[in-house]
Amino acid sequence: MSELHKFLFEGLPVRGMLVRLTDGWQEVLARRAAASDAFPAPVRALLGEMAAAGVLMQGNIQFAGALVLQMYGDGPVKLAVAEVQSDLALRVTAKVVGDVAGDAKLEAMLNVHGQGRCAITLDPKDKRPGQQPYQGVVALHGDHREPLQQLSEVLEHYMLQSEQLDTKLILAADDNIAAGLLIQRLPVQGEGNLQGAQRNEDLIGLDEAYNRIALLAGTLTREELLTLDADTILRRLFWEEPIRRFPVHSGEGGPRFVCSCSRERVGSMLKSLGRDEVDGIVTEQGRVEIGCDFCGLKYHFDPVDVGELFTPVGQQAPGSDARH
Ligand SMILES: [Zn+2]
Repeated sequence: MSELHKFLFEGLPVRGMLVRLTDGWQEVLARRAAASDAFPAPVRALLGEMAAAGVLMQGNIQFAGALVLQMYGDGPVKLAVAEVQSDLALRVTAKVVGDVAGDAKLEAMLNVHGQGRCAITLDPKDKRPGQQPYQGVVALHGDHREPLQQLSEVLEHYMLQSEQLDTKLILAADDNIAAGLLIQRLPVQGEGNLQGAQRNEDLIGLDEAYNRIALLAGTLTREELLTLDADTILRRLFWEEPIRRFPVHSGEGGPRFVCSCSRERVGSMLKSLGRDEVDGIVTEQGRVEIGCDFCGLKYHFDPVDVGELFTPVGQQAPGSDARH
């Protein structure tokens, strides 16, 4: 079962999280394969890492809404998305145009011309009128313009830039599991916001406890992250550290695949296209078929459904809510 483990280091300004996505991740891939639309292996690995990272970031800030991690690319991968809700429900998708080499890393997939971007959006569940979602964007290169090849490097860079917090991330994914380990220095507290922020910046890279623990975390190999259970990983890495574990998030309260698409939403989308446009598709193809990019579900609207869609509520014939 998929799990999110949270822990901190007693008496030290360092916290951590470990995520292992198993069943939910396998379901994402199986749905895609069933729709005869499987992603190339490097894209599957990237999406798995994005899903793991999304859960770690959402688990870290516990934001009341959706945390959306997006990669915009100028290579064969045009877009990759991982969305994680506050209850850790997650879904991912990507738009791939053209061939992706079997050994492609970030640069070859998303940043061929240096225009690739990673955006982190926090979309509140209950928006106030006029409230815009918060969004932070980083390029896919480091401080010296060197292209970054790993998602973990991009996100570490983002956390440092946007939150002035040292963060160590290790991510890995294959077709069975998507997993990640996050170690973060806790922000300085209780000194008033501005002063606190200033001190956080001053402390970047200088906290001894954080540096030691991040170094230990950095010895975790991709293979170990993919194959060992959480207890074994934490014991092996931090056996000399005063680690305190919190209850595990799993099952219904843990990370799991859930798609929020619905026939109603697809209907609203068709309505927004306008009657002429939709009638045109029906004339051409006999019906409208819309597939969900996240879960692979296909929604069909035949001429009767389309007629109902554009009939004002109250004028519909009795029993006309039949699904087709
Ligand atoms: Zn869906």
